[in-house]
Amino acid sequence: MKRATVSLLKDREKPVRQQHPWVFSGAIGKVNGAENGDIVTLTDHRGAFLARGYYNARSQIQVRLLTWQDEVIDEAWWRARLRRALQARAYLLAQGHTGVRLVNAENDFLAGLVADLYGQFIVVQALTLGIDQRKRELARWLAETFNALYPQQPVLGVYERSVADVRGKEGLRDAAGVLWGDEPPEELWVREHGRAFCVDVRHGHKTGFYLDQRDNRQQLADLLLQFADRPFSVLNLFSYTGGFGVAALDAVRPHAQAAQCRIVHVDSSQEALRLAQRNSERSSADMPAPPQVAFVAADSFAFLRAAQQDGDAFDVIVCDPPKFAHNQGQVEKAARGYKDLNLNAFKLVKAGGYLMTFSCSGAVSRDLFQKIVFGALADSGRQGQIVRQLSAGDDHPIALTFPEGEYLKGLLVRVY
Ligand code: SAH
Repeated sequence: MKRATVSLLKDREKPVRQQHPWVFSGAIGKVNGAENGDIVTLTDHRGAFLARGYYNARSQIQVRLLTWQDEVIDEAWWRARLRRALQARAYLLAQGHTGVRLVNAENDFLAGLVADLYGQFIVVQALTLGIDQRKRELARWLAETFNALYPQQPVLGVYERSVADVRGKEGLRDAAGVLWGDEPPEELWVREHGRAFCVDVRHGHKTGFYLDQRDNRQQLADLLLQFADRPFSVLNLFSYTGGFGVAALDAVRPHAQAAQCRIVHVDSSQEALRLAQRNSERSSADMPAPPQVAFVAADSFAFLRAAQQDGDAFDVIVCDPPKFAHNQGQVEKAARGYKDLNLNAFKLVKAGGYLMTFSCSGAVSRDLFQKIVFGALADSGRQGQIVRQLSAGDDHPIALTFPEGEYLKGLLVRVY
């Protein structure tokens, strides 16, 4: 067997010893017998073993590490790693969630591989060349491992939706299609905390749905129960397919004045709003007195300003914008965006109401985000308390050795 090796320059092994999964080109000394995508052994400058991973000379991150033990990375190894990640989701599946992230790339020690379960289908993203070259086998192993672990709810197919900026940096183009088994239907319904959502795995964002917000949507439903004595209003900014608004319906259902409750979804995408409407209608179909639900195709920044002029106000505002900072260089501009958005949102919250605000920019730290929100609150002239720190759900673990894995952060702020 060919033994490809990559050695580090002197004094560059510290992050590797600390099990950070990325080796940047600047740290690399010699490359021996490695072709792009190959499994390589990483050594220190003297040739002593450090770790093993896969190689891509076209990427800034030339080696993505998979193991720090001197073990062979073969089919049995991949299957064992996949099995471990799938087993860690057992309690989420047992709770009845059928939309679950099964593999969270570097954070599940499977660099470059994302796999999301949507009912009876798995949707994968191959984010790197090393994964792209192995994606058909990985898809089969993933499905077989899943079906062996969870035979009562087997998957029928694995679909690829590798659409991501990082693929360009790896020298790859976007790719989509069936990798294993059956083709997913046009309409895929998943369940989360008992709620049904239609997911478009072919055209939706990411793999089709923002699974990371599952528990925060539930948090909203719980929070709204305190408004049982009077009708409430929810503004769902950047609604996408209506996730938070559909969760809010659960607090409307038992409400004595359900028909006076109001949920407003705002998104710039008509397609997203169409699905939001479907999801919302399905979830409120059983209600004798459904609430007033609006779907507004607009820019959220402009919507907030117009609502202020109209003298409108809401009990709860959810603000979950797309990534504003794609890298460190964009942080300052992103901060201005978050500040403006949160300032104008604070102004629209009724006294005693809440702002549930998020940032999914990895480059914006939790600390910085909190400072921005503090600045926005101060400028709004309101008083506020952090009721809860919010993050992605348990199926989006963050490897302790990989701080880059934390991207979603949020604050639930009570406003006076
Ligand atoms: N909260 C959603 C996910 C939001 S994703 C959920 O729980 O599923 C971000 C959304 O913001 C996308 O649907 C995108 O279409 C929308 N968007 C992006 N820029 C926007 C803008 N300026 N105004 C309104 N919507 C915007």
